[in-house]
Amino acid sequence: MSIADSLGRPLRDLRISVTDRCNFRCRYCMPREHFGTDHEFLAREDILSYEEITTITAAMIPLGLSKIRITGGEPLIRKDIARLIEMLRALDAGMDLALTTNGVLLKRHAKTLKHAGLNRVTVSLDALDAALFQTMGDTEHTADDVLAGIDEALKVGLKVKVNTVVQRNLNESQITPIAQACFERKITPRFIEFMDVGSTNQWNYDSVVSGAEIREILSNTLGPLHSVSTGHPSDVAKLWETEHGEEIGLIQSVTSPFCGDCSRARISANGSIYTCLFATEGQDLRSLLRFGAGKQDLDQAIRSIWTSRKDRYSETRTELSQPKSKVEMSFIGG
Ligand code: SAM
Ligand code: SF4
Ligand code: SF4
Repeated sequence: MSIADSLGRPLRDLRISVTDRCNFRCRYCMPREHFGTDHEFLAREDILSYEEITTITAAMIPLGLSKIRITGGEPLIRKDIARLIEMLRALDAGMDLALTTNGVLLKRHAKTLKHAGLNRVTVSLDALDAALFQTMGDTEHTADDVLAGIDEALKVGLKVKVNTVVQRNLNESQITPIAQACFERKITPRFIEFMDVGSTNQWNYDSVVSGAEIREILSNTLGPLHSVSTGHPSDVAKLWETEHGEEIGLIQSVTSPFCGDCSRARISANGSIYTCLFATEGQDLRSLLRFGAGKQDLDQAIRSIWTSRKDRYSETRTELSQPKSKVEMSFIGG
């Protein structure tokens, strides 16, 4: 039976972080000065095995889950990730199964992921300009690697969306070219307001380019945009359409928060459950599992965590004093 939190929000989406490591060092997510060679990543034994992830997910499905997203860190660097997809698919043939990736390993993995039962990928792409791409990701990889991954994903039949985080005085110039590259491929670009997740990315309000500004940039270059309704209230992106029917998503978590419809739980790579992206701490399901908890114990623990949930950080960020140690996005999963 599906459950609701203390504000009446169901538990529909689960984001599973499979690793806290990444082959990029995006300045807004894992700045190298904080995630350098001396950073202590999780030890292998602290990370949930695929079997443990599957057990937790199996306990959550009867509570109302309809969407699962595999994320990280970079999920495609975890060994044999398609095996996890296969295991999750075996739990529920109708589940919406998605994965978020920076895309550089997607060309290599797309076919196996599709065969394993993945429905969709969301590919992050912040710049097409070669130098800017490498600066923002602090990486040697190229935007062409990402585009090749997107093209392969489309070729094997995965649904694809593109995510672009926009930062002021950095990649506004990339908004229109990215939208056009997406339209050529008949996929939806989604532009995301830079968020104050974690405590290492030096976020400040001035570096946020609002959804309204992004829309203005796009309508100046592509012509008028019309609002279209999304499929579901818990969809994070507000959708707009050009006069040619091309779709654009705006994720305005800073200027237009959507906590009222937030039905997302997150599992960190080390097996804690978080009920908000901006949480300061999670609740440890891994210990429960490793101490021999069965499906019923997990069901009870998750039920009690979700029913007492009252998070609405994005709606209250200006009222509250900032929490001191917000968890990092690369750890909890974006
Ligand atoms: N490594 C994968 C990737 O980059 O797609 C998956 C994990 S990443 C944490 C998930 C998403 O979070 C990416 O689309 C990334 O751009 C976004 N993200 C990370 N830090 C962010 C921030 N401070 N504000 C907005 N989006 C952010
Ligand atoms: Fe890695 Fe994704 Fe974070 Fe970039 S946004 S550092 S690719 S986890
Ligand atoms: Fe959901 Fe927390 Fe984001 Fe609000 S701030 S939309 S509750 S994850």
